[in-house]
Amino acid sequence: MPSACSRHRLAALWAAGAAVAGLLISDCLVSLRAEQRWRQGVFPVASFAGYTSHFGHRIGPGGASEPHYGLDIAAPMGSPIRNWWSGVVSEVINDEACGLGLVIQSGPYEHIYCHLSGTVVGGTYRSGPVALAAGQRLRGGQLIGHVGMSGRTTGPHLHWGIRHNGRWLNPGTILRAMASARSLPNSQARP
Ligand SMILES: [Zn+2]
Repeated sequence: MPSACSRHRLAALWAAGAAVAGLLISDCLVSLRAEQRWRQGVFPVASFAGYTSHFGHRIGPGGASEPHYGLDIAAPMGSPIRNWWSGVVSEVINDEACGLGLVIQSGPYEHIYCHLSGTVVGGTYRSGPVALAAGQRLRGGQLIGHVGMSGRTTGPHLHWGIRHNGRWLNPGTILRAMASARSLPNSQARP
């Protein structure tokens, strides 16, 4: 992730001067640009109450270890959910596990939101002033729904997952990248 790259590390790589180092340097520059980009990300729950389940393996209802491809963010019933990044609704979900949910595509990233309150009728998700269907464009930070208890859940929370080119990422890593991008002085924006 981006944290491996710093001015100091870049200087060390330049000093190494080998052909291999050139490749490392270009990777590093890409990472630095990406790090600035994370400033645009929006934390998806306005009334954050805590994390109830992290990305990785956890003990499921049957007592067995199962993968958990997202982050569970506890919040009071009906809390507004904000779109993490501008994109397009790619899927409206209504199933047993996720309950009512949304998948939003932003370039190579897909972000998924589960256990929402509201209704899904004819492929359209509705909750309060929100009405969303596949193909709809969304701004970053836009209201996309409300926290609920649909699907497999024991309490109101948002299950939030992020895939990059089909591979699940740890949303906690993304949140850390967003936080560190905001704390970067502007002078570090240029490698
Ligand atoms: Zn979850």
